[in-house]
Amino acid sequence: MTSESKVFGNHSGDVDSFEISAARLECDCGWSGACSGAGIEWFDELYEVNCPLCDTRFATVMSATYDRVFEAALEGYPDAVAAAERLRSQGIYPQP
Ligand SMILES: [Zn+2]
Repeated sequence: MTSESKVFGNHSGDVDSFEISAARLECDCGWSGACSGAGIEWFDELYEVNCPLCDTRFATVMSATYDRVFEAALEGYPDAVAAAERLRSQGIYPQP
């Protein structure tokens, strides 16, 4: 992963949690920051990331499949590396 993080604006659509937690969010209203500083709204299988100031949605985040966890780990997302470790410790490995 490069030191330049991805930038997500409003209505970025479906992204995965690894991408968005490593990204910088920029709202049309002028707010910008990290996912950890944004508003999170949980649903059963997904969550939405919203602007903390104006509540405009940045993105909908789906739960990652096992394959996506391993793929994102290879891409260097720290959360994914940790998640992949947990899966391996449970005997779950990437499909060849
Ligand atoms: Zn905003």
